[in-house]
Amino acid sequence: MLQSSELIATLSASIAELHTAPFLDNALPSDQALTHAREKLLQHLPSKGIGLETTINHLREDIAPGFSASSRSSNYYGFVTGGTTPAAALADNLVTAYDQNVSVHLPSESVVSNLEDRALSLLCELLNLDPTQWPHRIFTTGATASNVLGLSCGREYVICEASVVRSDPDISVGEIGIYEAMHRAGIRKIQILSTVPHSSLSKAAGILGLGRASIKSVALEASPHRFDLPLLKKLLEEPGTASIVAISASEINTGWFATSGRKEMQEIRNLCDTYGAWIHVDGAFGIMGRMLTSPDYATISRACEGLELADSITGDGHKLLNVPYDCGFFFSRHRGIASRVFQNPNAAYLNSSDTDIMSPLNIGLENSRRLRALPVYSSLVAYGSDGYRDMLERQVTLARGIAELLLDSEDFELLPDSSGDRKEILDNIFIIVLFKAKDEGLNKELVDRIKATCKIHVSGTAWDSKPACRFAVSNWRHDIKRDLPVIKKVLEEVVATWRSEQ
Ligand SMILES: *Cc1c(COP(=O)(O)O)cnc(C)c1O
Repeated sequence: MLQSSELIATLSASIAELHTAPFLDNALPSDQALTHAREKLLQHLPSKGIGLETTINHLREDIAPGFSASSRSSNYYGFVTGGTTPAAALADNLVTAYDQNVSVHLPSESVVSNLEDRALSLLCELLNLDPTQWPHRIFTTGATASNVLGLSCGREYVICEASVVRSDPDISVGEIGIYEAMHRAGIRKIQILSTVPHSSLSKAAGILGLGRASIKSVALEASPHRFDLPLLKKLLEEPGTASIVAISASEINTGWFATSGRKEMQEIRNLCDTYGAWIHVDGAFGIMGRMLTSPDYATISRACEGLELADSITGDGHKLLNVPYDCGFFFSRHRGIASRVFQNPNAAYLNSSDTDIMSPLNIGLENSRRLRALPVYSSLVAYGSDGYRDMLERQVTLARGIAELLLDSEDFELLPDSSGDRKEILDNIFIIVLFKAKDEGLNKELVDRIKATCKIHVSGTAWDSKPACRFAVSNWRHDIKRDLPVIKKVLEEVVATWRSEQ
């Protein structure tokens, strides 16, 4: 029997191999592999373990073939899943090997809290945000968790800090609870004002006792992703009401941004300052648009301008940053709010002597935490801002290539609107491409037929109450020269097969 250290070395070598291997052709496992993996899952806990060697073989030979190849496949466009850069993958294995806990900032014992803080400030630099302006920053498990942090900080702020009736400076939701805090502040209602919010924002509102029903659309009727500013003002000025404005920086179906640039963001900022509202940006993948500098992407860059005027920002690491699951990040301007909401109270043994870096356990959800900062740090320093910009440009270029293909096709229609100026349409494409088949019959089956080719994987959604199909490009390895011909061929094949059957 192999020594466990040898086994682990062998396993590590094959993991490294996986990360440097070329893209796989298949996006999903075969039905047989899925059935096999499912049947092979152990039914019951063995009293005597099956042993390390057998377990590793079991994982490799039975279970892993049942995994989706999404992030290792050139043909996966289903969800915004991202991939994993080699530098991030390597670091992620180190994280497991060293099993560090990033909880309390203890600078004389470990560098990990410094590392997390530095990774976050490098990330600020990548996104053209001034790190000194975002003192409350932390890695989370993903954008959903970051949205929970954003709404909870917003909730604390709008009730306690910016309350119009500031009768009591010590009101804190974190301390006395939401009901009492609202009562003392003279607030009857909290509303979250947004346009095309991601479903996780509703989830966050539900978790935090604000309620999913507190989310209200302030969208323009003609362009549902854009703000109706007069309506926003009208809702903000309602007496006895506290508001959080949630900005969708790149919406999941279209990739469109809710705001058009600095001027509009400044108008929203001014309104929110007047009425004591908090601005939260959900930029899970959209915030990455701030990396783009070339004039080819000017429309995206412009839409990202002014997002720095927000109070808090959500971003995802495991999407366009291409680090492994589970990694999201959260930035807020309000250092003081962090501990009012997240302070882990009365645990003297968890105190830090250093006040420069706040202990993660007092500014986020968890106490014990994985060192998910390391893959981010590793990948950022390995490739730098130029490397990351290049990865993103390749992804946007592929998405626009797909969009052009659809615009030129007699059989498909690019959504939401392909009637306008061609250049303008393409300039608005970020990494999502939404479309449908012109033939209603084919359109109903389009997603299934594309998936059935087993050559590319897309996901289905609905647009204007009709089925629609969506490409999401989010892997750092995507490349238009390699990937577009495959997509073109699949779409042509699907149409040809449909026609031959009619
Ligand atoms: C993906 C996504 C989320 C949720 O992110 P998770 O990382 O899955 O928690 C939230 N908002 C937007 C805009 C997203 O694209």
